[in-house]
Amino acid sequence: MTTDATLARLAEAIADIDHPTKTETSAWAREHLARHDLVAADHASVFAAADWRSCAERGIFGLMVPTELGGQGADLATTLLTLEGLGHGCADNGLTFAVASQVLSTQVALVRFGTDAQQRRWLPGLLDGSAFAALAMTEPDSGSDAFAMAARAERLDDGRYRINGHKAYITFGPICDLAVVFAATRPDAGSWGVSAFLVDTSLPGVSRTAIREKMGMRTTPFGDIEFHDVVVDADALLGREGAGARIFAAILDVERGYVFAPQVGAMQRQLEAAIEFARTREQGGGPIARYQAVSHRLVAMKERHERARLFLYRAAIAEATGRDITMSASLAKIVACDTGIESALDLATIHGARGYVTEFEVERMFRDAVGGLAYSGSTDVLRNVVARLLGI
Ligand SMILES: Cc1cc2nc3c(=O)[nH]c(=O)nc-3n(C[C@H](O)[C@H](O)[C@H](O)COP(=O)(O)OP(=O)(O)OC[C@H]3O[C@@H](n4cnc5c(N)ncnc54)[C@H](O)[C@@H]3O)c2cc1C
Repeated sequence: MTTDATLARLAEAIADIDHPTKTETSAWAREHLARHDLVAADHASVFAAADWRSCAERGIFGLMVPTELGGQGADLATTLLTLEGLGHGCADNGLTFAVASQVLSTQVALVRFGTDAQQRRWLPGLLDGSAFAALAMTEPDSGSDAFAMAARAERLDDGRYRINGHKAYITFGPICDLAVVFAATRPDAGSWGVSAFLVDTSLPGVSRTAIREKMGMRTTPFGDIEFHDVVVDADALLGREGAGARIFAAILDVERGYVFAPQVGAMQRQLEAAIEFARTREQGGGPIARYQAVSHRLVAMKERHERARLFLYRAAIAEATGRDITMSASLAKIVACDTGIESALDLATIHGARGYVTEFEVERMFRDAVGGLAYSGSTDVLRNVVARLLGI
């Protein structure tokens, strides 16, 4: 698609205030995904593997992948509107977050920085849903200060690398087949000494563990990956040696700019549920929607949803027109994260006690939104990024 066509699609989405409810993906997701007991799945932290395969069959994993590599070659507008529709139609927020993470981080790493051989090896399984990939940066002692990492990759005399390290809180960590691992090849060189590796997690020395209990998005596999003297061939290096920081920054711009697309769709779904409840729940002889305290809360949810959408699309417009997206991607993440949490709390408030107990699937929306404060760079750290770009 040309830049003009991308911009036209985004302009159309902005002008059409009901857009998220109309996409084909939303209707498809409502019909085909999350048909199981989501309260039980959330309680037991069960990943919806069958739904993941349905997403693969629909071609969702190939959205941002060029056709010559087996993908859809879709433009950014199509990708975002698809992920937004997915979040609107599918109530399993853990699944839609997992989909967006793979599409927008690990696959971006492979497509932008992988060699032909690396792409041929890993992309087919990722696109057909039979393989999972994780982006492994965070460690127990280096989170926001990511380049203070302890992970090391030592180049051996025969050109291979030996990796040691412990990556923590990794999406798909427990089940990933491929881990994009960041490790220091020159520990004395700070971020300049970090390299990225495509590590096959079936190699000897790799161990994966799940974090079973977490606040929200419990249906996303999540956990740690440890590397004990893991020897990888030279062709596991992604990009050049020492290019890890540049690769990480490029992936993060994409991820933080757009990974909230499903949540933006979910905000529309939550607004619809809140309106329906406010119209039908009667107290004091009529629907609670007639109380201004309730209707204004619904209006606040609508306004926040629009704000999150606009910042999301604005980042895409910046990228489609060739601009640097660090500022707009950071703002998109801050706005989507904060508005998502505030609106999920309003949803629970409107539902009274039903918003507090588990069976009505309202409190889960709030728990699912909180993780956004940390992933793709904490919102505090992104405020630092914006402050720096403002020259403060
Ligand atoms: C749902 C979820 C999915 C994740 N998926 C992945 C993944 O796939 N791959 C991966 O590598 N990591 C992943 N993470 C980890 C995530 O990247 C880290 O949680 C994040 O970088 C923050 O690091 P930390 O948790 O160690 O917190 P810390 O960095 O210890 O921060 C603790 C607090 O201090 C604040 N703080 C720290 N430094 C600063 C600063 N310079 N300025 C202002 N405030 C600061 C933070 O905002 C936060 O409030 C995920 C996390 C979550 C919750």
